[in-house]
Amino acid sequence: MRAMDLERRYCAHNYVPLDVEVAHGEGAWLTDSDGQRFLDMMSAYSAVSHGHGHPRIKQALVEQLDRVAVTSRAFYTDQLGPFLEKLCSVSGFEAALPMNTGAEAVETAIKAARRWGYAFKGIADDQAEIIVGTNNFHGRTTTIVGFSTDAEYKRQFGPFSGGFVAATYGDIAAFEKAITPNTCAILLEPMQGEAGIIAPPDGFLSQLRKLCDDNNVLLILDEIQSGLGRTGKMFAFQHEDMRPDGLILGKALGGGVLPVSAFLADKAIMDLFGPGSHGSTFGGNPLAAAVGLAALTILEEEDLAGRSAALGALMKTRLERLNSPLIRQVRGKGLWLGVEFWPEKADAKDVVMRLKERGILAKETHATTIRLAPPLVIEKADLEWALGQFEAVLQDVQRDSYAEPERHAAE
Ligand code: PLP
Repeated sequence: MRAMDLERRYCAHNYVPLDVEVAHGEGAWLTDSDGQRFLDMMSAYSAVSHGHGHPRIKQALVEQLDRVAVTSRAFYTDQLGPFLEKLCSVSGFEAALPMNTGAEAVETAIKAARRWGYAFKGIADDQAEIIVGTNNFHGRTTTIVGFSTDAEYKRQFGPFSGGFVAATYGDIAAFEKAITPNTCAILLEPMQGEAGIIAPPDGFLSQLRKLCDDNNVLLILDEIQSGLGRTGKMFAFQHEDMRPDGLILGKALGGGVLPVSAFLADKAIMDLFGPGSHGSTFGGNPLAAAVGLAALTILEEEDLAGRSAALGALMKTRLERLNSPLIRQVRGKGLWLGVEFWPEKADAKDVVMRLKERGILAKETHATTIRLAPPLVIEKADLEWALGQFEAVLQDVQRDSYAEPERHAAE
């Protein structure tokens, strides 16, 4: 049996993978078990922003593996301090709490926000509220899916934890209305990924900042997918002149090889975590720390955010210039674009399948939008080739949809 068939047989069916069996990856390219090459326009939802097998990430990983990999936080290591110092200097926060997956870092932020609400705002025990955006995606733990507004994420997984209120993403009046004396934080993606690559209106983050200041509420941004260069800035919040009180990072922090995440804040918030209040056996392990330090160093030294801005602008312009009647909207920032089709004219899944036939791996989000998010190290020539293939696919879809009614008419 092929590995793909074994996976289908033995793995829980909580994903529907594309029909390709990846065996190797280098830079922006993946190779399947039959030796066919594909351009990765997905980057594992931003986890592979550095590309597959970045030589400096591999070197950091292997060198650290030869020294020591996992110790738990019961001991200090010579890796965690330097990694977190770098993380704080890159992000501008005073302290960090290292975790592994994104969802764990979001849970960490929720704990920090609630504790802050009780300690500093005087909210009565167990009454703290956090306002989230509609169509949010912050991970898959039961607490997190509990405040999702997508029914499928939560169906038959309740009962859920209380204390969350959803306000319409991008609508400042809705957030203002949702604030009560018990609100401890607003938790938000500065650009929504899973919802379909959606940026809020210009100025929204600054308005939220002011709203939070006026009401003594923390503003916590989940930049697990948008952060670390993806939108053309190191952090998506830097598109505006503002700064959150807490920042959640993951995905690309692991350099495309390990799960590495963190919650960042200033000392006044972080010091609310005392011994025993939170933890993770693997969080901040020396292997993860060595890789995380390399990932941040590469981001800066190779100016991956600048690369994302320049190549992203090229990609957006080229897609807009297609003037395709199939496309309803091209949106996003940097190398993180969503192409939304008119539902009656093109099916995103069909476009994904056709792209695969032409050597490009991409993924739809919902039925009408396809996400284009290659590794930030992608070569310009490869990106241009991919855009040419994308154009050809849209022409094929259009041709086939004209052919269909004619065939039916002839029958
Ligand atoms: N937050 C955001 C914005 C995400 O996009 C994701 C994953 O897609 C998560 C949190 C969850 O991260 P993980 O899958 O590593 O738990």
